[in-house]
Amino acid sequence: MDPLKLVELMEEEGKKRNAPVFLHNSSLEPWQILIATVLSARTRDEQTAKASENMFSKAKSLDEIAEMELDEIERLIKPVGFYKVKAKRIKAIAEILKGKKFPETIEELLALPGVGRKTANIVLAYMGKPAIAVDTHVHRIANRLGIVNTKKPEQTEEELKKIFPVELWGRVNSAFVGFGQTVCLPRNPKCDECPLNGFCKSSNLKKDF
Ligand code: SF4
Repeated sequence: MDPLKLVELMEEEGKKRNAPVFLHNSSLEPWQILIATVLSARTRDEQTAKASENMFSKAKSLDEIAEMELDEIERLIKPVGFYKVKAKRIKAIAEILKGKKFPETIEELLALPGVGRKTANIVLAYMGKPAIAVDTHVHRIANRLGIVNTKKPEQTEEELKKIFPVELWGRVNSAFVGFGQTVCLPRNPKCDECPLNGFCKSSNLKKDF
């Protein structure tokens, strides 16, 4: 299938079904995307949104977060899981970046505490840099479709970069995530409602899910 068509079909389906990924506030600054992504690890979207809202209503920059007491950050982000670990990470990141230019490369982002490839790529893609963030949705759906055959998200990232032209990289994550939140669910994917049913290598293998 044409890569653009694939992205468009997934986006259309996710938007039609109000996928949470498309409800995010696009007026956020990159540092806010970084903090929100750190908050989102192993946490539901609603709790991430609540904790992010608490943080961003209190702190208007990383410099301000660097000045905050750890227990205040903990209190603000308490809706998310592992909030004590995440509070320490957020404060450490803010202290490292205090007074500095926000990172613009994957190397700089990966050097920050607790920041892995997925988070770094989400931030870079948001900044309009060429990056594909592979999270659990992207990894699962790409393998189900059969466009990749990979074990690890890093391998999926490499393969997807070969499949999708660079001008589409920034749309891949949200297209796959929205599709994964609404149609190609982790369990019991809605194959009978899926527009990719005829193309997908797993569409008739529901028993395998
Ligand atoms: S046919 Fe089923 S497994 Fe394949 S992409 Fe659609 S929902 Fe996912």
